[in-house]
Amino acid sequence: MTTLTAKLQAVLARIAGAARQYGRDPADVGLLAVSKNWPAATVRELAAAGQRAFGESYVQEGLAKIDELRALGLEWHFIGSLQANKTRWVAEAFDWVHSIDQLRIAQRLSEQRPATLSPLSVCLQVNLSGEASKGGVSPAAAPALAHAVAGLPRLRLRGLMAIPAPSDDYMVQRRPFRGLRELSEQLQADGLLLDTLSMGMSHDLEAAIAEGATLVRVGTAIFGERR
Ligand SMILES: *Cc1c(COP(=O)(O)O)cnc(C)c1O
Repeated sequence: MTTLTAKLQAVLARIAGAARQYGRDPADVGLLAVSKNWPAATVRELAAAGQRAFGESYVQEGLAKIDELRALGLEWHFIGSLQANKTRWVAEAFDWVHSIDQLRIAQRLSEQRPATLSPLSVCLQVNLSGEASKGGVSPAAAPALAHAVAGLPRLRLRGLMAIPAPSDDYMVQRRPFRGLRELSEQLQADGLLLDTLSMGMSHDLEAAIAEGATLVRVGTAIFGERR
């Protein structure tokens, strides 16, 4: 087993352990391997070990890997901030976008999603108070944006994503994840069909799983420190 494969197995074991600890089915928590800053050859090695879903933060870098690895049939998630002048590339090449925080960007993605592909799966990025990241819609504005995005024909609204400020305190880690889950529950009570809570990274995936994460986004714990 290579080091990379061993690290992948260790992350999968952490996910399964946390799921069981909180009475959840490990099969209900997916792993998105965040491959930003790592080359296509590294992604290929993880794909050979069984990993199917990969996350990219930069459009050009992601497109190059998608192109090079097309024959592998992998699932590609765009998780970075997206400018209007790059939406076409993302609409044509990616399977998911996690970082929707403006209706204008969502409308462009819907208009530009090729008819030959299935609708683009999207999550709204929510900026819960105290988050380090500046991206994301405020919780107060999220319901209106969610309903508008859900109405776009070539998008499929899957759920919510957040990047809380890092903390070493487990109970502090859980708080924003709980807030995201409660917002998702509120939107579902309003009639939206959501199946995804994209939350939890290398340092806090257990706290996210405790609060209901269905997809954890892990880079460093699999690939090592970013280069
Ligand atoms: C880089 C990144 C991750 C992965 O973070 P790690 O701490 O390396 O696991 C997850 N989500 C987003 C949005 C990222 O940009």
